[in-house]
Amino acid sequence: MKETLEQIKASALAALDATKDLAELDTWRVKYLGKKGELTALLKQMGGLSAEERPIMGQLANEVREALTEGLEARKEAIEAEALNARLAEEVLDVTIPGSPLTLGHQHPMYLVLDEIKDIFVGMGFECLDGPEVELAEYNFDRLNAEEGHPSRDWSDTFYFDTDSRVMLRSQTSPMQIRAMETRQLPIRIISPGRVYRKDEVDATHSPMFHQVEGLVVDKGITMADLKGTLNTVVETLYGKGTKTRFRPHHFPFTEPSCEMDVQCHKCGGVGCPTCKFEGWIELLGAGMVHPKVLEGCGIDTEVYSGWAFGMGLERTAMRRFKIADLRLIFENDVRFLTQF
Ligand SMILES: [Zn+2]
Repeated sequence: MKETLEQIKASALAALDATKDLAELDTWRVKYLGKKGELTALLKQMGGLSAEERPIMGQLANEVREALTEGLEARKEAIEAEALNARLAEEVLDVTIPGSPLTLGHQHPMYLVLDEIKDIFVGMGFECLDGPEVELAEYNFDRLNAEEGHPSRDWSDTFYFDTDSRVMLRSQTSPMQIRAMETRQLPIRIISPGRVYRKDEVDATHSPMFHQVEGLVVDKGITMADLKGTLNTVVETLYGKGTKTRFRPHHFPFTEPSCEMDVQCHKCGGVGCPTCKFEGWIELLGAGMVHPKVLEGCGIDTEVYSGWAFGMGLERTAMRRFKIADLRLIFENDVRFLTQF
């Protein structure tokens, strides 16, 4: 029986070395160590041995079982290591193959212009504020002196959320003037850029969503001269030193007096060309002295304080700046267009 055990051990270890993968290894395990395996079969014959032989053979059988189990573990590790090496060799990475290009984005042309505008105003001591896009009509109209019946409040112009026309998508950034005057200490110097919404059909110069930058100054002794001086400085920084501007009387409910500011056509120098529709001037923004009713509505003493405000469309400013002919290009996000800036 001892010889048989030795034989099983020798042939099992030889067969073990010959296994090539985990499946073969499992077959080997069943054959030699399984419940119906050769070793188990032999151990079942131990009952026929004498009392002296039985413990000796039992110990020997255990030694063989242990040797085979250890061999099995070692072989399993070896096979797994080989498989890993084979896979690594197969999946070798060729770092010399050119990679797929990674295209970096950049700022949208409109935000390039906005950043310039912010830089100019922040340099003059203004603060930049964000405001809510869902706004109360109280802030968008009432407190800006656009009373019930004002044409801009019409349902055909404004996106309301309720049937009472009290909650809306703001149609201008001006509500931030009221919010600033309500919450901040005087003097106030702020700009507030952001999205605004009006019921416009999309065409080359209109969109139901567009962007404005609003500005407000309230301090002692502020006059129209401050308004003109500040806005002229902004225009010269944006469009170059010596750029001519002109101020035309206009009407807005929340300013008195009100004006529109034109900038001399950069293309023809004021002679007239298609860019300026042969007028020599291009409209840039609306502005004016803050209406005393608006200031008083925010609890500001108009005997001591006065202010000016302006609002400009960002898309139009960017279009002028980069000579973009169609407003829709600004929103369509066509990469071929956007990468030109
Ligand atoms: Zn022109």
